[in-house]
Amino acid sequence: MTRFVSLSSGSNGNCYYIGNDDVSFLIDVGIGGRTIRKRLAQLGIDVSTVDFVLVSHDHVDHIRYLGSFTEHYHKPLFATKELHRALDSHFCTRGRLYGCVKEIEAGVTTECLGVKFTPFRVPHDAHDTVGYYIDFFGTTFTFITDVGAVTDEVVDYCSKAAHLIVESNYDRDMLLNGPYPPELQRRIMNGHGHLSNGQTAELLRKVAGKDVQSVFLCHLSENNNTPELALQSASAALQEAGATHILLKALPRRTCSELFEFEL
Ligand SMILES: [Zn+2]
Ligand SMILES: [Zn+2]
Repeated sequence: MTRFVSLSSGSNGNCYYIGNDDVSFLIDVGIGGRTIRKRLAQLGIDVSTVDFVLVSHDHVDHIRYLGSFTEHYHKPLFATKELHRALDSHFCTRGRLYGCVKEIEAGVTTECLGVKFTPFRVPHDAHDTVGYYIDFFGTTFTFITDVGAVTDEVVDYCSKAAHLIVESNYDRDMLLNGPYPPELQRRIMNGHGHLSNGQTAELLRKVAGKDVQSVFLCHLSENNNTPELALQSASAALQEAGATHILLKALPRRTCSELFEFEL
């Protein structure tokens, strides 16, 4: 049985857990270690049993507590060479990662404790940003957060996975008519920022009906989106593609999601 839970999702902090009784890992550590410990404990999971950490990119909402978490728990930390270089000088992680650093390469599959994961580059305005295709003992996930545009590679990796954790950051009308100054609006929409509900819907139209069983919408904007709008848009896309069997959820921003369990 594979378990997935989002411990926090959005610009306030990101952290996701995937595991079973024997092996588990986190993706990103953008919330405090104590919060991670408490939220996992509520689900009957002891944080000290987490085996390793994958990192998507070097923006603070993804790595704010990576330094302190690593100092405390000494878990191996997988990231690309470019990303490790950025973490070496980042105020959240500088001098705090000790011997935990493990280098991985975009497009190359790495195995740790039987879990296989392949990072792949996505367009975003950090030093290096990757999505992950994960084969967790046969249960497959594609994880993409903070993605400026849907590339062919994104479509390919999303087509291969059973479970998608995909950004659906903003509703275009809300962003254009909302409180953000034009410069910030442009940054979000310029192809190296974030995915709109419409872009995510287009991606889902392309990949639905393949092997996809569930879609988890992540990194929803607090100011420029609502869970209802994101779900409406994704659900319409899945219906158009005739894929109404797919489980569709919007991950909460400030709280833990429910625990999702998958049989192979
Ligand atoms: Zn982010
Ligand atoms: Zn980012």
